[in-house]
Amino acid sequence: MVERIQADAVLVGAGMMSATLATLLQQLEPGLTVVILERLGRVAAESSAALNNAGTGHGANCELNYTPMDAHGRPNLHKALAINGAYEQSLQFWAALVEQGALSCPGTFLHQVPHYSLVWGEEDVAALEQRQQRMAALPQFAGMVFSRDHAALRDWLPLVMEGRPGEDVMAATRYGRGTDVDFGALTESLLSWLQRQPGVELRLNHVLRNLCRGSDGLWHLDVDHGGKRVQVDSPFVFLGAGGGTLLLLQRAGLPEARGYGGFPVSGRWLICQTAPLIGRHWGKVYGKAPMGAPPMSMPHLDSRWISGHRGLLFGPYAGFSSKFLKHGSLLDLPASVRPHNLLPMVRVGLRERHLVGYLLQQLRQGSRERLSGLRRFLPQARPEDWNLAVAGQRVQIIKQEPGRGAQLKLGTEVVAAADGSLAALLGASPGASTAVNIMVNLLQRCFPQRFRSGHWSQRLARLLPYDPTTTAAASAAALGQCRQRCDAILGLTEV
Ligand SMILES: Cc1cc2nc3c(=O)[nH]c(=O)nc-3n(C[C@H](O)[C@H](O)[C@H](O)COP(=O)(O)OP(=O)(O)OC[C@H]3O[C@@H](n4cnc5c(N)ncnc54)[C@H](O)[C@@H]3O)c2cc1C
Repeated sequence: MVERIQADAVLVGAGMMSATLATLLQQLEPGLTVVILERLGRVAAESSAALNNAGTGHGANCELNYTPMDAHGRPNLHKALAINGAYEQSLQFWAALVEQGALSCPGTFLHQVPHYSLVWGEEDVAALEQRQQRMAALPQFAGMVFSRDHAALRDWLPLVMEGRPGEDVMAATRYGRGTDVDFGALTESLLSWLQRQPGVELRLNHVLRNLCRGSDGLWHLDVDHGGKRVQVDSPFVFLGAGGGTLLLLQRAGLPEARGYGGFPVSGRWLICQTAPLIGRHWGKVYGKAPMGAPPMSMPHLDSRWISGHRGLLFGPYAGFSSKFLKHGSLLDLPASVRPHNLLPMVRVGLRERHLVGYLLQQLRQGSRERLSGLRRFLPQARPEDWNLAVAGQRVQIIKQEPGRGAQLKLGTEVVAAADGSLAALLGASPGASTAVNIMVNLLQRCFPQRFRSGHWSQRLARLLPYDPTTTAAASAAALGQCRQRCDAILGLTEV
């Protein structure tokens, strides 16, 4: 017997992205029937789980890869401003939900933690100072301070400076409005609110196997529930299956998905086990990615709040596994190879030899090499204080771009059917922090008529009254007002 269900929208995967999209849909159109399918027995168990990601609220104030140097040797702030604006939207959305009572305790998922960038050597120190001068002059990053003075650095980062020779040439910037987000706890809270809404159904242990578009215009999803078949029919499908999205998108047979491939990068952390050490460090400290390393393997030392407990993590150490999900299969990568993406994948593999070499070198790393990476940040680190743990899996996008050939893309990308009936999220960075911005754009693309009628636009404007992505709105006064309101609701205080 096949169970058949129908819904206005089907969202595949119960991670941060589907949870955000489902919440937005309910906010814009209460009563819409939404089914969320999750292959595992619990929600937020892949990349959105707190220990599977770094929990950084990416406001682009400390991540040096968001401010690359331009041809004139000046930091380019374009990407940083876009990411900062997108994160500002997430904060507004969460604040609106807290105000409504949809999210109860912001302290369970959001904490103010200072963000630092840390560099060594005259060249990088000079570049960091130049970056701070340009950024601090903008309202978005006002308050960011720079120091190369060891006494000031000791004050900010006592553990990082302990046992460090006085002649070390180093500098840091500090930004007191940084945040740490437990995306796992946030996803759970969003889904718990959603399950209380009439018309929303979360189905765990439901694996989407296949999907196709019927002559009736609906998508028909073939779902496996512990050996039983379930068929879900819907006019709209979102593939938010994290690393698993690419394989599902290929099965959907969209012409828009042709040429896309995936390159999985795995990660590992060192997790501090010693409470006094955890208590002596307070900040997210981002360094520079080593030469040849992908930007997402930029080392960082992170104060975290996970399930209400303070923690300290260092990493990620990159690695390679052919799985697309942490709980996936080693056959994922070979299964994703198609005639249309084979050539782009081979070309990227040949061109990005340094990346492949870097990942192999990271894989070969033993505990001694890992410790020496940690000691760059914490000169007195002892191996007995740290345990190695596996982080989430990211699948970077490989695609054929007109005029540019095969490219390895490190960001996220929404692939959508021309008629907006299906959308899929590929890639992983900057990730969960910008989920609201990504999902708002996705809705505008897939449901243009609902925005045109004004109905959804008005509701959205009530949820996100300040639009930081439009430059006209980026006046210091408007941004200040928006931040003041969100801070008060979310319990954030600059540190
Ligand atoms: C090492 C690492 C560090 C990161 N650090 C940060 C950070 O500091 N800040 C930040 O903002 N972001 C960060 N990210 C990115 C962030 O974690 C992701 O962008 C975000 O969690 C993605 O959410 P998602 O819902 O798309 O995917 P996921 O959370 O992976 O959820 C996908 C879900 O789909 C389910 N699924 C898969 N296949 C199927 C199927 N066939 N049927 C049904 N269900 C299926 C999976 O079981 C899973 O539950 C990091 C990621 C990694 C890996």
